[in-house]
Amino acid sequence: MDLGTPASKASATLSIDGERLWNSLMALAEIGATPKGGVARLALTDLDRQGRDRVTGWLREAGCHVAVDPIGNIVAIRPDRNGRIDAPPVAVGSHIDTQPTGGKFDGNYGVLAGLEVLRTLNDHGIETERPVAVAIWTNEEGSRFTPVMMGSGVWAGAFTLEHCLAQRDRDGVSAGESLRAIGYAGNDSLPRFAAYFEPHIEQGPILEREGITIGAVESALGQRWFDVTVTGQEAHAGPTPIEMRRDALLAASRLVIEVRRIAAQYPNYARGTVGQMQVHPNSRNVIPGRVVFSVDLRNASDETLVAMADDLRACATRVAEQDGVIVDVDEVVHFPPCAFDPKLVASVEAGAAALGYSVRRIASGAGHDAVYVARHCPTAMIFVPCEGGISHNEIENAAPTDLAAGCQVLLRAVLDQAGAITATPAA
Ligand SMILES: [Zn+2]
Repeated sequence: MDLGTPASKASATLSIDGERLWNSLMALAEIGATPKGGVARLALTDLDRQGRDRVTGWLREAGCHVAVDPIGNIVAIRPDRNGRIDAPPVAVGSHIDTQPTGGKFDGNYGVLAGLEVLRTLNDHGIETERPVAVAIWTNEEGSRFTPVMMGSGVWAGAFTLEHCLAQRDRDGVSAGESLRAIGYAGNDSLPRFAAYFEPHIEQGPILEREGITIGAVESALGQRWFDVTVTGQEAHAGPTPIEMRRDALLAASRLVIEVRRIAAQYPNYARGTVGQMQVHPNSRNVIPGRVVFSVDLRNASDETLVAMADDLRACATRVAEQDGVIVDVDEVVHFPPCAFDPKLVASVEAGAAALGYSVRRIASGAGHDAVYVARHCPTAMIFVPCEGGISHNEIENAAPTDLAAGCQVLLRAVLDQAGAITATPAA
């Protein structure tokens, strides 16, 4: 069935309420509000419960049937035009847990933009061929419990339920106990989706720098994480001549420079970061005998990511020879790149342009629930700018007009997939 034409007609007359969207963001941000203007609402805490209660209350008021699965994922379904909720819905989702020093928009925006779409459909008496749903995924941030993107990962089959329920926080409390304590250990099995959209603040500086309102996200970067161990020989800083040293920190430093070169040299959104380093014995008058550091390589193409990793290993071999040290490169994480659905990405891009917004294709450098969801259904993300590209920070901020623009693009994209049937003329 071709649902495109009526949807575009309906969405041309419909406007989301940007002020209502902003007000719901601010109302949710009251729960766990920090003195510096951020939010601390960690996964499966009582504050998370309060946030979940508030948002599901709004979704029920909007006429949704709310389902909760055993890992606490929530899917609120607005029935199709025949009042049915069992067909695969077109879903919008993200997360409402935050980092300990998190902001008001990361995750929350995607969920509340979905709510605003439902409210807009209700305001205008729009019915759809397919149900429309809002998904709230459990523990996206991974701050209290690992792994990150836990709920969407379980939904997608990346992790088992048992493994995730058994994860413990720093106080020894398990995810399963926490879910029961807050009343969100559900029994429902969640639907598979016809399509999934995740609106999100960019969490990077590109859209703001280029003065562009909408990012049509075409991929999420693949990630390969390594632990690199350099072993040399500890010796006294005074008596040991320079040419006789096997300095593990010097060799590690050469490799840090190589990681930076690799990040600059390769195409397809290459990134390379050394973020952690441990120096042994870490004493000012001892030549370091052992250094362990992390390497995080990212790229939109798996082929290029493999080339970057090969390059790193070749550098390790060369530096080991040159400096008389041993270098072990141990891979600890490998997430392949994720390409989002070309048709949905094109529909986001075309919808933004038709609405008169500036738009560009972009890659997500961070992980998102959408990456797991994309394993099962056509998926795309919609990025809007955030101030200074700053996120995971209490000063995280975004402009109400940009948030409204992303939601308007979302409405159009959802209707293109869900098929609008009855549009009463907008007043
Ligand atoms: Zn997020």
